[in-house]
Amino acid sequence: MGHDHPHGKPENVLKFSQDNKVIVDEGPLKKMFEHPDVKNRKIVAFSIIGAYRKGKSFFLDYCLRFLYANFPSINYPNNPVESPDDWPGSEDEPLAGFSWRSGSTRDTTGIVMWNDIFLHTIETNGEKIAIVVMDTQGLFDNETSPMDNSRIFALGTLISSIQVLNLSGVVQEDQLQYLQFATEFAKFAADDSHGSSGKPFQNLIFLIRDWSNPDDHAFGTEGGESYLKYFLKVKSGQKEELKSVRQFIHSSFEEISCALLPHPGKSVAGGGRNIQQNKKYDGNWGAMDEDFKIELFNLIENLLKTERLVMKKINGKDLKGSEFLEYVQQYFKLFQSDKLPQAQSIYESTVEKQMNILIGLCIDNYKETVYKNQDLISNISQIPVFHNMSKNQALLIYKESKKMGNSDHETKFKKELSKQIDKLFSEWKNRSEANIKKIEEEKEKTLKALEEK
Ligand code: GDP
Ligand code: MG
Repeated sequence: MGHDHPHGKPENVLKFSQDNKVIVDEGPLKKMFEHPDVKNRKIVAFSIIGAYRKGKSFFLDYCLRFLYANFPSINYPNNPVESPDDWPGSEDEPLAGFSWRSGSTRDTTGIVMWNDIFLHTIETNGEKIAIVVMDTQGLFDNETSPMDNSRIFALGTLISSIQVLNLSGVVQEDQLQYLQFATEFAKFAADDSHGSSGKPFQNLIFLIRDWSNPDDHAFGTEGGESYLKYFLKVKSGQKEELKSVRQFIHSSFEEISCALLPHPGKSVAGGGRNIQQNKKYDGNWGAMDEDFKIELFNLIENLLKTERLVMKKINGKDLKGSEFLEYVQQYFKLFQSDKLPQAQSIYESTVEKQMNILIGLCIDNYKETVYKNQDLISNISQIPVFHNMSKNQALLIYKESKKMGNSDHETKFKKELSKQIDKLFSEWKNRSEANIKKIEEEKEKTLKALEEK
């Protein structure tokens, strides 16, 4: 929907060309962050990321309504903040802002910034902050390669202080693995910049759309917290690889939270879930389901209330507008250059890391079964039987574990596992044979001694 907004417009500051090059539009960036009212303020960078056609831009446009009702901005410095609670606007007002649409054609891929910046002074300490809103477009559509996705994701994470990860339905294990991979990429690019806590990035918010299990975890941020605890918990019996994904996510962000939103109703999303959208809908507040309105209202109030706004930090230091500009330019350049190892190699190393964890787990299992059965072996011919049994069990664990990577990875690491087990076997076989021989010799000796008596 292309309803023009009276105070600002989206600027596609970074996009990918047909041949996968990163194209940066510096003009609007400079205009925004060198603005006299912004360059000396500390920056809050609010960003949303996730698969496309899941209501990201739609959500951001309601965030813009909240921000315009609560804060002055560079383009609209004297906005009347009379009744900030009425921010959703009139029931029939068409939604404007970041372009959101019900069609099936794809928007530009890349990072889009709202060119108007919100200005606020924190009451308690007089600190002046500037709030910038960012949207990512085209992530995870059919035409964007996993590598481009990871580049957008990494960039979005690097340049935001609040990263909303917009997901639909439930959080899936492969999404967490993907998050790890993309964050790993960002961490690699960030190199030595990390917060005072040692964590490179600030807030990560899982935003789950079309949540359908409110009986298990209620809508909103409280239910979100309990759902987050449920899916991000490192449990003692959990497989090592699942633990490591969770530990990695915890170690990368200073604060992680979650919120659950209901399905917005047929007028917003059409008949089916994510399949057929209502083409005539103009985004107005009135047409949404009542429970969705309540949850959306509370959530935006909660996420954007001033106590929750987090400033962009590098090495523990808050960035001012002019520094933020330099930082963003630096990262955009890095992603344009050949200096950064291709996402491919980080992807490979992430897959490798995870596979090695899994291989370790399978080998432990092999060792355990072999040692457990060791005492049962009384005859050399039984050794290969125990070996095969234990090896098959380990290979089965490998086969049944959820893995990143493709079938080539699957075969390659299966071979590696098999090789390592066979190596262990040859050591174990030699030792066991020697043991059994020793036992037999001793038996013979005792028998002889008995006979001689
Ligand atoms: P984006 O590609 O993620 O930015 O998605 P858009 O904001 O462009 O929205 C895509 C479509 O999803 C629009 O037709 C919206 O009306 C619809 N939509 C908005 N919010 C939701 C939601 O919470 N659930 C569902 N199922 N659809 C939504
Ligand atoms: Mg969008």
